[in-house]
Parts: sequence; C-alpha cells; structure tokens
Amino acid sequence: MSENLERRRFLKFLGAGSLIVAPLGCSSVDEDKNSNQPHYIMVFDQNKCVGCGDCKVACNQANNLPEGKSRVMMEQQSGGVEGQVCPQCGKTSCECERKYVRVSCQQCQNAPCVTVCPTGAAHRDAKTGIVTMDKAKCAGCKYCIAACPYDARYINKETDVADNCDFCLESKLAKGELPACVQSCRYDALIFGDANDPTSYVNKLLAVKDSVRIKSHFGTQPSLRYIPIVKQGV
Ligand code: SF4
Ligand code: SF4
Ligand code: SF4
Repeated sequence: MSENLERRRFLKFLGAGSLIVAPLGCSSVDEDKNSNQPHYIMVFDQNKCVGCGDCKVACNQANNLPEGKSRVMMEQQSGGVEGQVCPQCGKTSCECERKYVRVSCQQCQNAPCVTVCPTGAAHRDAKTGIVTMDKAKCAGCKYCIAACPYDARYINKETDVADNCDFCLESKLAKGELPACVQSCRYDALIFGDANDPTSYVNKLLAVKDSVRIKSHFGTQPSLRYIPIVKQGV
C-alpha cells in the first residue's frame, strides 16, 4: 500500500474534523473499570504535541519495523475548530494555528479485529488485556484490517503479517519500560498507565481533564484518550 493511500485510510479513521470535543462527548471516567485486571490506556494531549515525529522514529526502532514505517502517525490539522471562525484570519479552516493528532490503534476493549481473526493471531494478551499479535498464526487474510473501524491495522511488508500498536507489549512493557513513543516524547504529550489503578497518574489526570474517545459509539471501547485543544472563550 502506498504511503498516500495509507494516509488517506488513516484520515478516514479520524473522520471529518476529527478531534472535536462536542460531537464525541467528554469522558473523565473509566467506564470499563474492572478492578481485577489492569486497563492500560494512553492519553494524547493535543495541547502539548508539537508534531516533531520523535514518537514515529522511536516506534520504528523499538519494534524493528520496516524502514520508514511506524505504528503511529501524526496528522497535522489546520487551525480553528470546525464551524468556528479563526480570530486571526476570519476563516473557518486555516493554517494560522498548527495542531496535531495521534493516529494509531485504539486498543479497543471490544476489538473487532480479535473477533474476526480466524486463526487467533489477533488476540488479547491474557495478562495485560492488550490487543496484540501472535505472528506465527497470522494467515495474512486481512480480515482484521477490514474489520477495524479505525483503519489502524496494516500488513508488515517484510513479514506479511498484520500489525498494530500493542503499546510495545513485548519490546518495552515486558522489560518494565514505558512504550517507546511515550519515552521519546520530549513534550509530555503522551501519558501511559493503568486506568484501574487509582494511584496511577493517568487516573488522576483523567479525573481533572476532559478527554474524548474516538468513535466510541461503535461499542469498541477504545483505550486511547485524547485531550483536545480547547480555545479560550470557546
Ligand atoms: S483500533 Fe482496530 S486494530 Fe486496534 S484494537 Fe481496535 S479494532 Fe483492533
Ligand atoms: S490477517 Fe492475520 S491477524 Fe488478521 S485476521 Fe487474518 S490471520 Fe488474523
Ligand atoms: S506504544 Fe509502542 S507500538 Fe504503539 S505507537 Fe507507541 S512505540 Fe509504537
């Protein structure tokens, strides 16, 4: 798949206007709380991201991905909030302000990719609950890619195996480290932790910050949270 086509698929994932607070609804509570198991989540703070791309490079290196490939993309969005006039240029869509959004697997708790996989290659890790891959089982049928409502999966061209962001389950978490992208972000735009741990930073953060989940109306229960830029006076 060409990078352009791949990019268009990711843009489709975001939907028009993508990171808009109101239509998606805010949530500061973990609706899927299960105190018996961890619920690892990642928070992307759009207010802090500068679009440097260090997360993409770190992902590539940590997970031995093909040259130039990453499990995460940063999408630049034009300034302004859809339907509202930019105070600088007077347009509703402009480049006066640059903002970025993380595009990656949403780590659905109710994951269609896992449901449709005929071989069990796409599965949920029993210990952590993270959606990941058993590469040896993958038949390359792409059912999971078709089923993912976020267009967040792809076939690794070097291995012919489907792939998704798995929070660096093997490459970092298994070693007791944070995901590579989280470690690499110099601007603290990425926060990772267990939402079921009342003492975790993510838990405390989401208790005081409004966040959104993308396309949660599909019932996928995504584990990525976005803290959108909210303009003063909006
Ligand atoms: S975002 Fe797509 S690939 Fe990731 S868990 Fe959900 S359905 Fe699977
Ligand atoms: S491509 Fe691999 S992971 Fe995806 S559904 Fe087919 S066998 Fe399962
Ligand atoms: S958590 Fe790991 S696999 Fe996912 S985007 Fe970040 S570096 Fe890549």
